[in-house]
Amino acid sequence: MKDKITVSISSIHGTKHFSFGKKTRHTFRVVSYAIFVGVLVTGGIIYYLVNEAEFSKLKVQELENRSSTLSKEITSLVALKGNLERDLAEREERMLLVSDRLDDLEKVLGMDTQEDEALESRLDTAAINSSMRVAMLTQIPNGAPVKNARISSGYGKRVHPITGKVKTHRGQDFAVNRGTPIYAPADGAIEVTRASNKGSGNFIRILHTYGFSSSYSHLSKFAVKRGDFVKKGDLIGYSGNTGLSSGPHLHYEVRFVGRSLDPKPFMDWSVDNFDSIFKNIRGIAWESLVEKIELRVSRQLQLSSQKAAPLSEKSK
Ligand SMILES: [Zn+2]
Repeated sequence: MKDKITVSISSIHGTKHFSFGKKTRHTFRVVSYAIFVGVLVTGGIIYYLVNEAEFSKLKVQELENRSSTLSKEITSLVALKGNLERDLAEREERMLLVSDRLDDLEKVLGMDTQEDEALESRLDTAAINSSMRVAMLTQIPNGAPVKNARISSGYGKRVHPITGKVKTHRGQDFAVNRGTPIYAPADGAIEVTRASNKGSGNFIRILHTYGFSSSYSHLSKFAVKRGDFVKKGDLIGYSGNTGLSSGPHLHYEVRFVGRSLDPKPFMDWSVDNFDSIFKNIRGIAWESLVEKIELRVSRQLQLSSQKAAPLSEKSK
């Protein structure tokens, strides 16, 4: 009986007996182990696959997030690029406008410029040139000291209307009514105001910069006193008929370091014919004067080409 196992199953139909021998039991055990191992392995594989699927799902989620962030970044970069391109186009347009204006300015200033010259350097040259012109036209007599007046007698040799002698007329006469306002033709300081009944009559002399002076004779009234500073266009006095004069007029003189000059070229001198004075008034080292003024204004101007210079250069 030892080598046999009997299994009895009872039911209403009676009892059935199943007997298993030793060999059968061994087979049964092997099959049971095989099933157990199979279930374990399958379970492990399922566990592994489920884990892997979960991990992949997370990975996909992460990639989707990253992709969405990147696409947002791309959108904002594209927008930025658009803005920058518009900005650049605007700047280029402005640059062209500046360049065109500079061309015009250079034409007015009569400057020769190289095609390939940098804009900064051209601007500096134009700035120096125009500042030099402004300085000269502010400080050296130009334009008429009285408005819309007829010239009754010019500069040079003539027979004096009262004495009858041939003498150099050292100024220019304007036929003006008594009391006509007289304006300073340039900045300066009042050097002389002299009241007199003889010769030049009531007389004013303005001392200008760079060795120039201008004087006004036969005046009726002074509007300034000695030592006053005046700027171009300031009222200095009124014309009259005082001193040695045959009728109301203004005798106007321009001098350079004491030497009288023809006032006409100074009267005709303006921004429109700036170079005319250099040809029409000889005996003045204009080139040297222009050079000195240019040097001064270039120091005063905050020139763009010098802004880039190192600090050590600037502090010199
Ligand atoms: Zn005169």
